Amino acid sequence: QDDIPLERGLPVPQGISKSAFLAAIDELRTLLGKEHVQLNDTQISNGWYMEHPNTHDMMPLLDSEEFIASAVVYPGSVDDVKIIVKWANKNLIPLFPISIGRNLGYGGSAPRVRGSVTIDLGRRMNRILNINADDFTCLVEPGVTFYALHEEIVRRGLEDKIWIDTPDLGGGSVVGNTLDRGVGYTPYGDHWACHSGLEVVLPSVGDDNEVPVFRTGMGALGVGGENTWQCFPYGFGPFSDGIFSQSNFGIVTKMGMTLMPNPGGHESFMYTFQNESDLAPLIEIIRPLRISNILENVAQLRHGLQTLSVKGQPRTKYYSGKGPMPPDIVSKHLRETKTGDCAWVYYGMSYGPQHIRAHKLALIDSEFQKIPGCKKIDPATLPADEYFWSRDKIASGTPDMEELKWVNWMPNGAHIAFSPVSPIRGPDAERLFALARKRHEEQGLDVMPAFCVGLREMHLIIEIVYDATDADMRKRAERCLRDMIDDAAAFGYGEYRTHLALMDQVAGTYNWNDNALMKFNNKIKDALDPNGILAPGRCGIWPKRYRNRGWEL
Ligand code: ADP
Repeated sequence: QDDIPLERGLPVPQGISKSAFLAAIDELRTLLGKEHVQLNDTQISNGWYMEHPNTHDMMPLLDSEEFIASAVVYPGSVDDVKIIVKWANKNLIPLFPISIGRNLGYGGSAPRVRGSVTIDLGRRMNRILNINADDFTCLVEPGVTFYALHEEIVRRGLEDKIWIDTPDLGGGSVVGNTLDRGVGYTPYGDHWACHSGLEVVLPSVGDDNEVPVFRTGMGALGVGGENTWQCFPYGFGPFSDGIFSQSNFGIVTKMGMTLMPNPGGHESFMYTFQNESDLAPLIEIIRPLRISNILENVAQLRHGLQTLSVKGQPRTKYYSGKGPMPPDIVSKHLRETKTGDCAWVYYGMSYGPQHIRAHKLALIDSEFQKIPGCKKIDPATLPADEYFWSRDKIASGTPDMEELKWVNWMPNGAHIAFSPVSPIRGPDAERLFALARKRHEEQGLDVMPAFCVGLREMHLIIEIVYDATDADMRKRAERCLRDMIDDAAAFGYGEYRTHLALMDQVAGTYNWNDNALMKFNNKIKDALDPNGILAPGRCGIWPKRYRNRGWEL
């Protein structure tokens, strides 16, 4: 499905004529250099994960030309970003900042408003500005990927001392992932909680005709906070960082991140459980172990079918019928794998020297073994290409891409997630699983849940894998997601993050007290971005110029 000519032509943003838009692009080229501004007027090229497009979502849920950029601009400095903001305000052209744009499953690099000019920050602003091996911190620009940060630590000979935390796929940006509140799998897995300090370019022009840039936390000190910016996130006064995550209030040009000391040893472990009905008692066992940090990283409990699909084979290898794959077929194929037939697989990691691990692992074992049929899998029996080893790498801070294999399940495979948050309780897990199964069955889709326990909450992540070229399947995936979001909200569960196409719906579920939260967000948006140029619609926040004019989906 690569290189498809644009059917709808150059995606000129709404509200400006094509000729005025092209004149504005010429002006931007003069300001920044011709080579740093690219029009998107010929074709859609999807590439693959490592050579992903920066103009649209390579895993579209809607028509591919709906969430698409008119042009891409490559700033090389904070001053360039200010120039772009000034230009957009003058011409009333929507901007959409990305760091790398590998936010797959959440919209990739696509803008929410068709024809936005994408600011690809990562292409040229990709320096690691500091790695401090005494404080275990770093300061990075938007283009630094988890791979790049890890490689630099290795290059400096620091890998025995310092770990990073990486999400399932390591090709994304540290800044982009953290701003979208992505997670990883070491004890530093809550990226947002682990960041310290932002530098932000605001989206409008001040009274002095300058575009404001400010630093949060200790970075606001007159000297720029160089010594403590990454050591203490709060500084003095209101803690403003929060409004720049999952929002459209500013463009982040630098971010501080804390790094984990090498714990002096680590050991992955894996348990299987036989029955789907083991879910509730198991979640009850996990909760106290996780909250007391005996289970030290994000606890992952994956459905058996998911462990089959991540092997990277097409679904048709196992089953060619319509509708969800029947349980007996799943069992038959799981029996042929090293882990054997099971309903659930637990992936975990214990950290520290051997004697400390032994203590924690013994506690975990005695608790897990309370579930009849529970089996501990000996890693020594697993071949090198078993998915377990990918989890082992990720939970010890080494970026990986194995998880991508999952999309081979379908031809032209794409994925999108349902990801509600709940307390860590058996009945909540069962209720969420049941509503998801019902909606998947209605739409004839395989249901592949994974419960991820953060600390006091769990995210249920259900990735729907679909054929991005199959319009009917895309529609069914969308229907399934929308129904699950509404069902979950009715029980009091909300999504922690979502795809561009679903942001209005998800934001709409956070509607307590007559939408008081969105009213507050709108006030901030109108104050910071009166012309409404920055990422209109992202996370359901629409600027005044767009609000209630039919943009919501
Ligand atoms: P990834 O790290 O997965 O490649 P992206 O770079 O696509 O992620 O970032 C995810 C989302 O976060 C983007 O779609 C964008 O809305 C927002 N974002 C990313 N980088 C910035 C930034 N530097 N400033 C403001 N928003 C950003």
